[in-house]
Amino acid sequence: MKITIIGTGYVGLVTGACLAELGNDVFCLDVDQRKIDILNGGGIPIHEPGLEEVVARNRAAGRIVFSTDVAASVAHGDIQFIAVGTPPDEDGSADLQYVLAAARNIGKHMNGFKVIVDKSTVPVGTADKVKAAIQGELSQRASDVKFSVVSNPEFLKEGAAVEDFMRPDRIVIGCDDSTEGSTARAQMKALYMPFNRNHERIHWMDVRSAEFTKYAANAMLATRISFMNELANLADQVGVDIEAVRHGIGSDPRIGHSFLYAGCGYGGSCFPKDVQALERTAQEYGQQLMILNSVEAVNEKQKQVLGNKIFKRFGKDLSGKHFAIWGLAFKPNTDDMRAASSRVLLSELLRAGATVAVHDPVAMEEAKRVLELDFADAPQLLKNISYAVNPMDALDKADALAIVTEWKAFRSPNFDQVKSRLKNPVIFDGRNLFEPSVMSGLDIEYHGIGRSVLT
Ligand code: NAD
Repeated sequence: MKITIIGTGYVGLVTGACLAELGNDVFCLDVDQRKIDILNGGGIPIHEPGLEEVVARNRAAGRIVFSTDVAASVAHGDIQFIAVGTPPDEDGSADLQYVLAAARNIGKHMNGFKVIVDKSTVPVGTADKVKAAIQGELSQRASDVKFSVVSNPEFLKEGAAVEDFMRPDRIVIGCDDSTEGSTARAQMKALYMPFNRNHERIHWMDVRSAEFTKYAANAMLATRISFMNELANLADQVGVDIEAVRHGIGSDPRIGHSFLYAGCGYGGSCFPKDVQALERTAQEYGQQLMILNSVEAVNEKQKQVLGNKIFKRFGKDLSGKHFAIWGLAFKPNTDDMRAASSRVLLSELLRAGATVAVHDPVAMEEAKRVLELDFADAPQLLKNISYAVNPMDALDKADALAIVTEWKAFRSPNFDQVKSRLKNPVIFDGRNLFEPSVMSGLDIEYHGIGRSVLT
């Protein structure tokens, strides 16, 4: 099938590459010339396991092209996926300017029937706005070309995006044109048929419910994390091991084990902004989402948990102190630094006078870029960060190690080396990677999240 993907970021590039892998003829559009140049030069602009190979294979086979040519992109695809960013506006609501710009571009150039698919995460009612934006452009040029707008939110996880796209646990399609045989429904069914061979994975619903489903999923996952973080903070007070509690409750099938890890807060491009956007939607309708309000507040506080533990141990003034930080990305297997907890910790430590040495397997370049923005008010502090090429090199002469991202490479370090390279054998573990009893056996002072069992 002929597919256009508008927005070649994490979601757009994965969607385009995976659909090309299945034999479709894919045109990826982006307004960012740098990204398109990298892709046309044989590289990929993001770190995502397995993606480079899929892109290279399909580029070589001529099944995927990358361009900034809007008219050509509209001409190409019978199905046009909108996969542009929907960042938070100043008030937390989803900023739809990129989605609507993409829609207007389609309206400006389309000359035949198109199925327009909202893949971006967008608030309830956005499909109507997309429809109106396209219709407005068509009316201006007195065109009566027909189109359908469908909602198909994406559930892939960064770090496992190719695998998630290729083996989805569900495919949500909102299609108001619900009669069997309608063109939009038939085309979406045909497109997703290869994913749907052994089990029925498509959940057909109306457009507004599909838009809402994506927010409900992310809000639920964020809620589980904030719930565990709040309990972990109490566990620290009362001498309880939150990891034991996690196992104890997760084995109940009504609860399950996923997304119950206490830590130093969730980040990324989705949970924070989607929780906020759902709250703003509720406000527009005169409702307060009290649970989600707290989920967000707990998470903001939780991003300070490592800093607070460090201040409690070393005092508020960290002048002359030096810390090692393992992990910068908001989660492992990605270079995405959006809303990463490491940014809060770095800000706290540097502004309190400390110097830091950081290591992340893939996110250091992206970190340098975002930290320039974070420290726009105090750029001189950036020289107090050094970037180590491997985790052990970050440790030299540090007063303590703080772990922010649970990269696999951090899980079983040589603790003799860790101890000998640190000035003090002190670890603040924001992801509960180690066992407190093992750490005490190694004479390492260990501060996990919710693991202060009274002995
Ligand atoms: P991203 O920032 O990585 O990519 C968006 C791309 O769209 C950018 O490359 C940008 O240059 C491009 N763009 C903006 N306006 C454009 C236009 N008018 N025409 C063509 N290209 C344009 O964003 P992302 O992480 O891929 O997220 C995209 C959407 O998918 C968001 O709504 C997000 O919430 C949702 N989503 C993201 C994830 C994730 O893990 N990243 C998962 C599920 C859903």
